[in-house]
Amino acid sequence: MPIDKKGVVYCVNHPRHPMTRNSGFSAITAVEATNVGVVFNASRGIPVVVFYCGECGYVESYAASKMPGWNEFIRDRSEETDVSRVFESEVFEALEVIGGRVGAQAVERNVSVHVGGVLREIDVVMYLEHAVYVFEVKSNNSAGVVGMGALQARDAARMLARFRDPRADKRIIYPVLVVPAGGKVTSLAKAEEVPVLKYNSMERRFENIELVFGGLIAAGG
Ligand SMILES: [Zn+2]
Repeated sequence: MPIDKKGVVYCVNHPRHPMTRNSGFSAITAVEATNVGVVFNASRGIPVVVFYCGECGYVESYAASKMPGWNEFIRDRSEETDVSRVFESEVFEALEVIGGRVGAQAVERNVSVHVGGVLREIDVVMYLEHAVYVFEVKSNNSAGVVGMGALQARDAARMLARFRDPRADKRIIYPVLVVPAGGKVTSLAKAEEVPVLKYNSMERRFENIELVFGGLIAAGG
């Protein structure tokens, strides 16, 4: 039934019964014709707000873009992901430069690791002759994010260790967390003893690179 001025939707079967708004937003998924038949494409579709009748179960939906809360919903999310994507790219480029200076064999981004049915994507992996560095990159340096990021870095290093054949590759895997410089970030996430690299986006450099590559790189770089 048409939505009224107060945003209430009534059931077509029970015209006096207000329908319940399902929390958040949902989507009608697109379907595509392919050579194996019709398939669902969950990456495309129409964002909607769904209402249902608690009496008969009738479902009705409205385009999310016409409903309150949608603009805030997409604005917050896209800004956040843009910021973190840009930061990750900057950090990756900076790590490639560092990799060149410390003689890395390869620096890879978004490395997929499959262990025991779990798929994990590691932000950056740097392979040296005698060691492998696993980088978890966070675009936020609040204490909570640093703590969580350190755990994730440690977890990523463990997963990569299980993913490889330890007899064929005896290199030690070191976890490293990368966060934006500034604030009160310590150089070591104490609970996990994971080194925390601080990347300065303005100056396009790490402020404490010697923390990780001290023996390999000249100070001041
Ligand atoms: Zn109803």
